[in-house]
Amino acid sequence: MRKIIIAGNWKMNKTLDEVNDFFKGISEWEKDFEHRCQILIFPSNIYIQIALKMLDENNIDIGVQNIYYKDFGAYTGEISPKMILSIGSKYSLVGHSERRNIFHETDEEVNLKVKSLISNGVNVVMCVGETEEEREAGKTEKVLEQQLNYGLKDILPPDMKNIILAYEPVWAIGTGRTATPEIAEQAHKFIRDWISQKFGKNIAAEISILYGGSIKVSNIRDLIAQEDIDGGLIGGASLKLEDFKEIIKISEKNINRQ
Ligand code: PEP
Repeated sequence: MRKIIIAGNWKMNKTLDEVNDFFKGISEWEKDFEHRCQILIFPSNIYIQIALKMLDENNIDIGVQNIYYKDFGAYTGEISPKMILSIGSKYSLVGHSERRNIFHETDEEVNLKVKSLISNGVNVVMCVGETEEEREAGKTEKVLEQQLNYGLKDILPPDMKNIILAYEPVWAIGTGRTATPEIAEQAHKFIRDWISQKFGKNIAAEISILYGGSIKVSNIRDLIAQEDIDGGLIGGASLKLEDFKEIIKISEKNINRQ
């Protein structure tokens, strides 16, 4: 049975005091709440060690928002999979649309990052998703196929157990315009079918595919009830402790399977 994951992408947000407050609040709550889904948070890199320390006794995973694909060297400003592993973090986001659009990250770089993370034993959350223009031009599936094809190039079936996918339509990220459950499910099904063709039915049945794009307390229920939606990658709403907890609670009650 595939994992249900509720992940928070904090992007470039929160001061140290705010980080402390959030982790204090979530760690107390999480200890008393018997949850069935995996909780994963991607704070800014400078808070990773604090997060790991504060959540040491909790069942919450901490990941980084981005890595560079080399191990060490003269790459000013970058961090590597080996570095994050050495401090105890085992997850990284790859290919978020903000990395692709603002920092001009290409599909080829996405693939180099995925391969570097996998070869170092770090779990990957790889994001794919079409822009509004691409959707309106009827190119959604073509774009998803291209991002999957490039991003997962040279990845072998056994590596897929360390990969989580996130469908994040660019037009829904940070805009307040969530994809309808039907639109999201259609894209998730397309992605799962693509995985099935490329890696086989069993791997497709096991891989978690998260939806991301303006998830809120008010819309998580219907999204999570879809057959191929295995959780959420949440930006804005993950910054507010009460909203994030509520999203986790609603998800657990409305998952479409036991
Ligand atoms: C994201 O950044 O991955 C995201 C989905 O953001 P938001 O929830 O704010 O749309």
